[in-house]
Amino acid sequence: MATELLFRGDAYAQVASATVRAVGANGVELDRTLFYPLGGGQPGDQGTLVRANGERLPVVDTRKGEVSDGVVHVLGPGSARPEIGESLTLELDWLRRYALMRLHTALHLLSCVVPAPVSGGNIAPDKGRLDFDIDITLLDAAKIEREANALIAKAVNTETIWISDAELDAQPELVKTMSVQPPRGAGRVRLLKIPGIDLQPCGGTHVLNIGEIKGIRVVKIRNEGKRNKRVEIVLVE
Ligand SMILES: [Zn+2]
Repeated sequence: MATELLFRGDAYAQVASATVRAVGANGVELDRTLFYPLGGGQPGDQGTLVRANGERLPVVDTRKGEVSDGVVHVLGPGSARPEIGESLTLELDWLRRYALMRLHTALHLLSCVVPAPVSGGNIAPDKGRLDFDIDITLLDAAKIEREANALIAKAVNTETIWISDAELDAQPELVKTMSVQPPRGAGRVRLLKIPGIDLQPCGGTHVLNIGEIKGIRVVKIRNEGKRNKRVEIVLVE
């Protein structure tokens, strides 16, 4: 069943209440959630479901459900299971998520300073990477770092905007990532806009101001295949 995705409207929400809608072998589905499910190169969130009696059920991963906007909260092994209809308090592992938001937004900037199609990508709490379809000799770590950090220093606010599927189809140049299809559903597509810097379809979670990234360092540039030249970054603090 569809879950109300609270992180879409407010990626900074850390605590919320929700009601259990389904409990399956894979995990728990709720009427609303703070937890981002694995997708678009961003890992699923972790955190805790707290029962009315204070019992804490650890969420070790979050995955998409079978329906559009369905979200499955994967509980730790041996965890008790809540009852359908039960009210729970959701607590997000915020430090982990915030690092993911900073790295995710940094990857948008990385895609702007490297002028090549993106052929892959992944984000972890401690590092992020994009693969580019480019001649590897054109990838200069010091230059990428300098240019990305110059963008971060502009400290502009990010914006989420929605356009129709038809509008996206009319502007295929918006899609930079060859390996990930833009998030679609209900005839509309979500875009992340970094004014003056970037505009692309993305369903992930981002920081409100790119200054929050603070800074990045390029830790690796490596050949991962004919069309995959990998640039890996970490946050400087
Ligand atoms: Zn994004």
